[in-house]
Amino acid sequence: MSFLDAILSPLRCIQDYAKVIADADVDWKNLVVLFSLGVYVLETYLLSRQYPYYSREAPPPALSQHFPGETFQKSQNYGRDKARFAFVYSAFGEILGIGLIYAGAQVWAWKIAGEWLTKWGYVGYEVLNPFHGILLLASAIPFLPLSYYQTFVLEEKHGFNKMNVRLFITDTLKGWALTFFIGSPFLAGFLWIIRWAGDGFIPWLMSFLIAFQLVMVVLYPTVIQPLFNKLSPLPQGPLRTRIEALASRLKFPLTDLYVIDGSKRSAHSNAYFYGLPWSKHIVIYDTLIKQSAPEEIEAVLAHELGHWWYSHPLKLMIISEVHLLLLFSAFPAFLQSASLLTSFGFPTSVARHPPIIISFMLFQNLFTPVEALLTMAMNAVSRYFEWQADKFAFEQDVSDNDEKAATEGKDGSTDGVAADDMGERLAKALIGLHKENLSSVWVDWLYSAYHHSHPTLPERLRVMDDLRSQKNLREGASAKKEL
Ligand SMILES: [Zn+2]
Repeated sequence: MSFLDAILSPLRCIQDYAKVIADADVDWKNLVVLFSLGVYVLETYLLSRQYPYYSREAPPPALSQHFPGETFQKSQNYGRDKARFAFVYSAFGEILGIGLIYAGAQVWAWKIAGEWLTKWGYVGYEVLNPFHGILLLASAIPFLPLSYYQTFVLEEKHGFNKMNVRLFITDTLKGWALTFFIGSPFLAGFLWIIRWAGDGFIPWLMSFLIAFQLVMVVLYPTVIQPLFNKLSPLPQGPLRTRIEALASRLKFPLTDLYVIDGSKRSAHSNAYFYGLPWSKHIVIYDTLIKQSAPEEIEAVLAHELGHWWYSHPLKLMIISEVHLLLLFSAFPAFLQSASLLTSFGFPTSVARHPPIIISFMLFQNLFTPVEALLTMAMNAVSRYFEWQADKFAFEQDVSDNDEKAATEGKDGSTDGVAADDMGERLAKALIGLHKENLSSVWVDWLYSAYHHSHPTLPERLRVMDDLRSQKNLREGASAKKEL
C-alpha cells in the first residue's frame, strides 16, 4: 500500500459511511435542532457545575497565601457575574438559532439574495451570492445588545473596560468590514474550487486552505491587527535586554519586539509571538509591562518560546488541517442531497440542484456534536502543550540574563533574588496575571476539561514545585557522587 493509499483509504471509508447516512430517510432539520439542543444542555450542565464554586468562602489551600480576602472576593464576584451572563447568552443564542431555523431564515436569505442578484444582473453567479453574508448579519445583529452589555456593564463593573461607545461601534463595523473583504473572496474561491473539481475537490480545497492560512499569517499582524491596535517597538531597557538575550540564547529568529496598546480596550494582559519560520515577532501587552517586573515578563516569554521550541503552532495547524480534511471528506455525500434542503423548507426547484453554499452550510450544522467533542480534545492537547511550555521555561537558566540586565544591579547572594529560578519567576508572573485578571480560583474539573485551553493555576504551580523537587533530588544525587 502506498503512502497516498494509506491517507486515502480512511477518507474513502468516511465517504462511504457519509453516503449511507446522506441517503437515509432522515428529518434533517429536527436532527440539527436536536444536536444543537444536546450541545446546549451539555454546556449548561457544565456551567451549573462550575457556578456554585463562586460562592465558596476561601481560596484553595495552594492559593490561599496569594489571594488575600479582598482579591479573592473580587475574583469570585467577577466569576459569578460572568457565569450568569454566560447562562443568559447561551440561552439567548440557542433560542435565536432554533427560532431562525423554524422561521425559515435560510430560505428567506436565499430568496432575498436571489432578488438582489436579479436586480444587479448577476443571476447564476453563485460565487457572488450574498446569501451567506445576509445570514451572518441576521444572526450577528441580535447579539449586539448582549455584547454591549458585556463590555459596558459587566466588564465595566469589575474595572476592566477601557472602551468608549465610539470605539465599540468602530470595532464592530471594522470587524464586519473585515469579514466581508476577507470572507467574500475566500468563500468565492472555496465555492469555485468545489464547483470546478466536483467530487474530487479535496486535494485542491486543502491546498487552497493552507495557502489562505499562510497568507493570513502574514496579513494578520501587518494589515489587520494595526486596524485595531497600535504596535510600537519596545524601548531599550532591562526588559528589552532580557528578552533579546533569551531569544539569542535559544536561537529564536527574533526580528521585532513590540508593545501593543491593549490597555485601549481592556485591562486584561498577555504576550505572544507570531511570524514565519525565519522571522518572528514578539508582542507584549502594555498592561503586562505595567503589572509585572522585567524578570517575570522574561519568564512569561520563556514559556512562549517553549511553544516555539516544540513547534506547537505548527502542530496545532496540522491538527486543524486533519480536522478539516475529515470534515470535507464527508461532504461529497451531501453535495447532491435534495432531502437535506427540502427538510429546511427550500423549494424543490432549488433542492433539485442544491447550491453548494446551502448544502455546505446545512451539512456543517450536522457536525455540532462532533465539533463539541473535538474542541474538548483540542483543549486537552493544548493543555499538554502548555505543560510542555511551562517545563521548558522552568529549565531555562536565569543567571546569564541577570548578568546582562546589569542595570538592575542585583547581587543574588545578598538580596536573595538570584536564589530563585525561572520556574519561580514564571509562577510569580502567573499568579500576578491571575490576580490582575481576577481569573477564577476554583474550577470544576469537568468544566475545565471541556472549556480550558490552559491548566488551572494550582495545577501549573504544582508542576513548578514538582520540577523543582526533581531538580533538587538530581542535584543532591550528583553532589553525593562528587563527595
Ligand atoms: Zn502558553
